[in-house]
Amino acid sequence: MSAPLKQHLIDPEICIRCYTCEMTCPIEAITHDDNNVVVDAEICNFCMDCIPVCPTGSIDEWRVVNTPYSLEEQFSWEELPAQEDISECGGGIEALDPAIEALLAEAHGGAGGRSKAPLSAAKPTINMYNLGKPATARVQGNYRLTAADSGADVRHIILEFGGLPFPILEGQSVGIIPPGVDAEGKPHLPRLYSASSPRDGERPHFNNLSLTVKREDQGLCSNYVCDLQKGDEVQVTGPFGATFLMPDDPAARLLMICTGTGSAPFRAFTMRRQRAMAGEAGDMVLFFGARAPDSLPYFGPLKKVPDRLLKKHMVFSRLKDTAKEYVQDRMMVEQDQIADLLADTKTHVYICGLRGMEQGVEQSFKNIAESIGLSWEATRDVMRDEGRYHVETY
Ligand code: NAP
Repeated sequence: MSAPLKQHLIDPEICIRCYTCEMTCPIEAITHDDNNVVVDAEICNFCMDCIPVCPTGSIDEWRVVNTPYSLEEQFSWEELPAQEDISECGGGIEALDPAIEALLAEAHGGAGGRSKAPLSAAKPTINMYNLGKPATARVQGNYRLTAADSGADVRHIILEFGGLPFPILEGQSVGIIPPGVDAEGKPHLPRLYSASSPRDGERPHFNNLSLTVKREDQGLCSNYVCDLQKGDEVQVTGPFGATFLMPDDPAARLLMICTGTGSAPFRAFTMRRQRAMAGEAGDMVLFFGARAPDSLPYFGPLKKVPDRLLKKHMVFSRLKDTAKEYVQDRMMVEQDQIADLLADTKTHVYICGLRGMEQGVEQSFKNIAESIGLSWEATRDVMRDEGRYHVETY
């Protein structure tokens, strides 16, 4: 009989089928059918590249098995099988290949992945509620954040959980399950949205949270959420996300770069610092791109946040009679400020929003780092290793 081995699996109850893991896997060990996303045990080499990119944590599942589950078995699952009892056979768990054990230990400790939580971050709760057992929240409010004629309908939605625990940290996301079923009669999968409120709630100690959601043409879930009325019940999964978290160290300096609704976590970060450490906090710098002031979520309230807490660079791409400007362009204009932040080991960088901005933002970082004699790649890798560099783009 062969020695037991550990197998990498994906939890079908939590996975939202975004296929990011499949796109990330360098050796094509991850694949999917109409039902599930699965890992091929014959190909997977435990490189762990897929672990940090998974927005839900459903990728981080492992079983010790005598015979690996086949792709067909995994495609048919509605839920993960329990750990089988392997004590009767072979060498037992202690016979596991030590090299694989070490990799697995790293994966569970977060050391093997590319992205890490800040060292001082609070410990997040993840996957408390899933598709099979969602939390029911009630809508407390639904407010339009953008002008009626701005072309963008962005909403501030407040959900309240009553007596149900829903511990969520700034930077984490929730899943919203749209009602109804898909073409095959199955419940719709949850769609993920970042919380835009801090850990103690949209209103302190009210067990509620807020989301920032843009209505998308044909968007099944965004239209459902944007049309919610006060008092409606909503099925919620999560919380999700274990790395895009803020440091609890008040001395940390935060450089935040976002577009559109990617501003959601930065509203949460800002409110956390306003509430918990206003007088003593290190500086926060925000580069925020939108088409125009009337389509920039939270434009009015943001302008009122004092500069000593948050330095704001609002960047507009479609102002009349003004040249198009993106966040990466403004970073170059403000390069001295960014150089000062990059040279400081207390700085944490967060990038959130459109995937398309990533390349331009990286290029600006590279130009600025090189202007002060730093290699951008080396600086970024150190920041990432130290849990000080975070990207969440879609
Ligand atoms: P948007 O309004 O389409 O765009 C915001 C701004 O980004 C516009 O000024 C746009 O300029 C500019 N932009 C476009 N391409 C760019 C590029 N390559 N580099 C830099 N700037 C660029 O944004 P949105 O629809 O709100 O989308 C934001 C993204 O954040 C979505 O992909 C969303 O999924 C994601 N997100 C949302 C949440 C949430 O909780 N709601 C959380 C995390 C991430 P032009 O249009 O003039 O070119």
